Amino acid sequence: MKLIETPSPNFDERPQGLPIDMLVLHYTGMTSMEAALQRLCDPAAKVSAHYLIGEDGEIYRLVLEEKRAWHAGLSAWRGQGDVNARSVGIELVNPGHEFGYRSFPGAQMDALIGLSKQILSSHPIAPRNVVGHADVAPTRKQDPGELFDWRLLAKEGVGLWPWTFSPGQAVHAIPRLSHYGYDISDPDAAVQAFQRHFRPEKCDGIADAQCAGLLDALLKLVQE
Ligand SMILES: [Zn+2]
Repeated sequence: MKLIETPSPNFDERPQGLPIDMLVLHYTGMTSMEAALQRLCDPAAKVSAHYLIGEDGEIYRLVLEEKRAWHAGLSAWRGQGDVNARSVGIELVNPGHEFGYRSFPGAQMDALIGLSKQILSSHPIAPRNVVGHADVAPTRKQDPGELFDWRLLAKEGVGLWPWTFSPGQAVHAIPRLSHYGYDISDPDAAVQAFQRHFRPEKCDGIADAQCAGLLDALLKLVQE
């Protein structure tokens, strides 16, 4: 896999003895690839990721996986904070909801799938721990958002997808979100993050029977 080395100064050491057990996907949310690359390498910005993938599928390596990149910020998953300490972070070039959100091109998705497979083969990352930034920071973030094709990733063995499900009981959706991994301190935000990932057709933040059923299916998959 061809990597374009573009070292960023924005990293520190991972805590010793903590495995890398999460993969976090982002969009850049900026008007151009160049602007994003510049920001991710700017010491004053104090942000980075391990990799940046252009819409043309070019992969830039900014931080070595053994180092702690600064991509997730204040975040939590399955009751654990400091997602940066235990994750690899990938930024996908996309203007995002603020500057003209659009689909992620095939070349970009292909590069992401190849890179993700390589990352999953070198770290103990469970399928449910392949998440979006919004999944781990639902009140602050929307990325990579409802146009991101999580289904395609799961088909390729990257992350989890509830292929079959039947409607569940809406009243159970919120506690199940928490069981699956979401921080539900703001339940509406958590539901919307879940929808952007698993029910992108309707992201209204309302925990309905379909959301509950999807969560039941996911929880069943992780128990098996
Ligand atoms: Zn992000």
